[in-house]
Amino acid sequence: MFNEKIKTEFPTPTHFFECAIKNSKLAHAYMLEGNDLFAQYYFTLQVAKVLNCQNNEFNENCTCTNCSWINQNKHPEVITISPIDYKQGDTASVINIAQARKLKEDLSTSSRYYRVIIFTDAVEGKEHAAKFEEQISEYKNLISMPNDEENDRIWLPKPLNAKVFRPDSANTLLKIIEEPHNRILFFFLTSNRHDMLDTIVSRCQIIPVISKKIIRAKYDMLEEITKNFPFENIENAMFYSEKFVELTKNHDFMPEDLLASLQEYINQLLQTNIDNKFNSYKLIEFLKEIEKTAQALKFNVNFQSAIENLFTKSLCVFK
Ligand SMILES: [Zn+2]
Repeated sequence: MFNEKIKTEFPTPTHFFECAIKNSKLAHAYMLEGNDLFAQYYFTLQVAKVLNCQNNEFNENCTCTNCSWINQNKHPEVITISPIDYKQGDTASVINIAQARKLKEDLSTSSRYYRVIIFTDAVEGKEHAAKFEEQISEYKNLISMPNDEENDRIWLPKPLNAKVFRPDSANTLLKIIEEPHNRILFFFLTSNRHDMLDTIVSRCQIIPVISKKIIRAKYDMLEEITKNFPFENIENAMFYSEKFVELTKNHDFMPEDLLASLQEYINQLLQTNIDNKFNSYKLIEFLKEIEKTAQALKFNVNFQSAIENLFTKSLCVFK
């Protein structure tokens, strides 16, 4: 059902969707949550293929009409709804009421297909493509993005947040999701459920799609900071907390991922490299502080002050 590489990199969602489809136990709305939007988009399209395949095959290389349409991102009933909507000839920063109404109208008619509706934020433009070059080439043969053939534009998925929905379109969409539907599946692509409207979160089952590869890449970026760890004094701690926050700005990293990479680094120390400056008791204490910081971030605590606080606390933990 899923590509071998994807299966290895993303065991949780792979296993989840394989079981849900084989046992006909799909919910009607899923919120995918995590750091790899390309992988999230891949899962939505792949699930759409399995649900619509004319050969009833779980073969990812099937070439039936439905699978081929989805491969080209041209299936009439596998619909991506994002602020950058080529079918509407519109590129904006919000999902507008016209899109919500159009969806409502489309879904009110019957269909012989299993309809899959994917909500995501999106960006377009060469500068974004350059940033995601590696992921674009990795997913090139696995998925097609929504495309605008005439203008040769590049559409890229981006995590949703509450601001992508205008109140009027959010209301219309909520009504659509609330209605019981047969053979319609909704997906919301997000980095963190706390970024989303609670009313939508509460109607979805949440599936984590976490790329360990992205966390590892960030781990390498942290080296400049971690090699100076534990910090000597408060000036030092402040200096590196600023560097840490800069990483999220300069590289488009999500704070949660960067914090997860720091956690990973401390875990590694705990397992391999206990010496005089680090003893396991102190490392475990610091891991608890990182966890507290991660929890605080979920409640919209300012990232900069959360990291300053964490790095200052490290001075006490490692004194
Ligand atoms: Zn097929």
